[in-house]
Amino acid sequence: MDVIGEQIKKISRMLAEASHAVVFTGSGISAASGIPTFRGTDGLWLRWNPEEVASIYGFKRNPAKFWEFAKELIVKTKASPNPAHHAIAELEREGVVKAVITQNIDMLHQSAGSKKVLELHGSMSYVDCLDCRKEYRWEYIEKILEDRQPFCEVCGSEFLKPRVVFFGEPLPPTVLSDAMEEAKSCDLFMVVGSSLVVYPAASLPDIAKQHGAKLAIVNLEPTEKDHIFDAIAYGRAEELLPKIVEEFKRSRV
Ligand SMILES: [Zn+2]
Repeated sequence: MDVIGEQIKKISRMLAEASHAVVFTGSGISAASGIPTFRGTDGLWLRWNPEEVASIYGFKRNPAKFWEFAKELIVKTKASPNPAHHAIAELEREGVVKAVITQNIDMLHQSAGSKKVLELHGSMSYVDCLDCRKEYRWEYIEKILEDRQPFCEVCGSEFLKPRVVFFGEPLPPTVLSDAMEEAKSCDLFMVVGSSLVVYPAASLPDIAKQHGAKLAIVNLEPTEKDHIFDAIAYGRAEELLPKIVEEFKRSRV
């Protein structure tokens, strides 16, 4: 058997032995859904300035620029969940995965059927007017965005901000503490599609390990933290995760 095959078997065995697995996902899981990644050789940050379109300062200076970016990132891609998202949702239905912690704001885990999703960087599902506090559903904003920048229909403000965490903003404290709790109480912590470079999220595997959990990672390329993992599978999440789930089901019967 090849190296990847061995690691797939190993991770599926770890899942079969786990009673409380937690999955942690980054942008790598959504690449196959057409969502561009931020860093890397064809990352969004080569074409967009994160200071302008992803920082709270940039947003307050020029919300129109942010909405231009959001249109390219979300509306144009019309993303739907890929086999990796579906595989993780299936592991939750099977009762082994108890929570998904994600750095993504694309809502694809929920679209795939995952119930407990901790969104560390928030999500686009709600948009708030920063001036009058009127709340909008994303579906409503998305329709407007096809033609123009959205404005508040109550007070006319241009400062409509999605509930995502911009650079310069803290992570939502309750979500972060829930994620820490999950890391402490799980017996298997599985990273999918994250290079583990953004803190404090990247410290979650360390916390899990300190509390006795096994660690597995499925990622396209090595990370600086690979040495702390018990099983490592390099490859595309949308190819490897379905195989892992298949093996997991086989090893259970
Ligand atoms: Zn308003």
